[in-house]
Amino acid sequence: MAGRSLHPDTLALHAGWRADPTTGSVAVPIHQTTSYQFRDTDHASALFALQEMGNIYTRIMNPTTDVLEQRIAALEGGVAALAVASGQAASALALQTLAKTGDNIVSSTALYGGTWNLFANTLRDQGIEVRFVDPDDPENFRRATDANTRAYYAETLPNPKLEVFPIAEVATIGRSLGIPLIMDNTAAPLLCRPLEHGAAVVVYSATKYLGGHGTSIGGLIVDGGAFDWEASGERQPALNSPDPSYHGATWTQAVKPIGPVAYIMRTRTVLLRDLGAAISPFNAFQILQGIETLHLRMPRHCENATRVAARLAGRADVTRVIHPSQQAGEARARADRYLKGGFGGLVGFELAGGVDGGRKFIDGLQLLYHVANIGDARSLAIHPASTTHSQLDADAQLATGVSPGYVRLSIGLEYGDDILADIEQALTAAG
Ligand code: PLP
Repeated sequence: MAGRSLHPDTLALHAGWRADPTTGSVAVPIHQTTSYQFRDTDHASALFALQEMGNIYTRIMNPTTDVLEQRIAALEGGVAALAVASGQAASALALQTLAKTGDNIVSSTALYGGTWNLFANTLRDQGIEVRFVDPDDPENFRRATDANTRAYYAETLPNPKLEVFPIAEVATIGRSLGIPLIMDNTAAPLLCRPLEHGAAVVVYSATKYLGGHGTSIGGLIVDGGAFDWEASGERQPALNSPDPSYHGATWTQAVKPIGPVAYIMRTRTVLLRDLGAAISPFNAFQILQGIETLHLRMPRHCENATRVAARLAGRADVTRVIHPSQQAGEARARADRYLKGGFGGLVGFELAGGVDGGRKFIDGLQLLYHVANIGDARSLAIHPASTTHSQLDADAQLATGVSPGYVRLSIGLEYGDDILADIEQALTAAG
C-alpha cells in the first residue's frame, strides 16, 4: 500500500499496528507492565537523554498506549499524540505545557462545565489566567490577547450549546500572533478534523465517542506538527528557552532530529512525567477497540439525533430544540462548513414546564439512561443545571449555554423508533 494514503475508515482499523512481531497476535496486546528491561547501562542512559526512543516506564509511555496514540494521530492528520488518564487531564496538560504563572489563555465561553471549572478556578489558582470570550465574533480572541497570551482554546461542537466554533477564523488570528488554537473535538470525531482548518492541537475526552461504549475514561492530545513554535520565539518561551526540568533542553532544538514534535514531547516528558496522569494500558486497549468502529457508529448517532431533534421541534410542549440540524443563519453556516457526514449525536431541548418539567421528563424515561456521560452506544439524558454544570453560578451556566430548563440528550445507536417512543412517553408523562 506504499505511497497510497488510506481513508480514515481504514486507518481506524489499521493505523499504528499490524501484528505482534513475537507472537503474531493481530489484536493489540495489553502490555500490563510498569517498566521495561534496559539492554545495558548505555541503553538506559540513551533513553533517558532522549538520544534513543524507547520504553522507560508506563507513566510516560507504554506499547499498547503507543498504538492508540499512533492511531489517533493518523485519524486526525497529526504527527504524534499523547494518551492520558482522562479528557480533563488532556485539557489541563495541553495548556500547562505552554503556560505558567503570569501567563494567560483565551478561551471560548462555550465549554463543558468541567473544563470551565478547571479554567476559572484551578488554573487561576495556579497563576494561569483564562480569559473567556464569546465565540460568535472571532475577533474577540484578538481583543483579549496580550503579550502573555500563550494559547487559544475552544470546543468544536460545544456541549451543551451545540453551536459549531469558527475554527479557521480563530486559528488564522492565532497564527498571525504566534498563538496556537487548541480544539477539544470530543463531540465531533471524524465529523470534523480541526487540524485541517488550522488548529495546532486537538484534545479529546476519549471516554465519549472514541471509546464509544461507556467503559473507560481516557484523554488524548494530538500534535498537528504544523505550528511554527520556533518562529513564535518570545511568544512561546516554554518551547524556545532552556528547560531546567529537562537538563536545559530547548525543545524546538532538541527534537529536530525526530520531527516537528516539540509540543507533544514536552507534554509527555515534562508534564505527564511530573503530574502523572497516565492512562492504564487496559483503558488504552478499550479505547482502541472503540475507535475501530467509530466510522460506523458516528453516522448512526447523527441520524438518530437528527430524527429526535425533528420530532422534538414538532411538539407544542417543547419550547426550544438545540441541534445543528435545527439551526439557521451563521450557526448553521458554521455547522455546514465544519461538520461533514452529520451534525453529531447530542441534542438539547427546553420544556414549557421549565425545571420541574425537565426533572419529570428525566424521571419518566424507561429506555434512556440518566447519567453524567455522553457518546455512549446507549442513549443518555441529564439535566445539566442540577448536575454537570451545578458548580457554576447562574451567569456562568448561561454563558456555557445551560438554561434552568435545559435537558441534554446523548442519542445512541438503538433502533430510532425505540428512542423516539421512550422520549415521547416521558414527555407525555411530564406534561
Ligand atoms: N471535554 C468535553 C467536551 C467533555 O464533554 C468532557 C466530559 O464530559 C471532558 C472534556 C472531560 O472528559 P473526561 O470526563 O474524560 O475527563
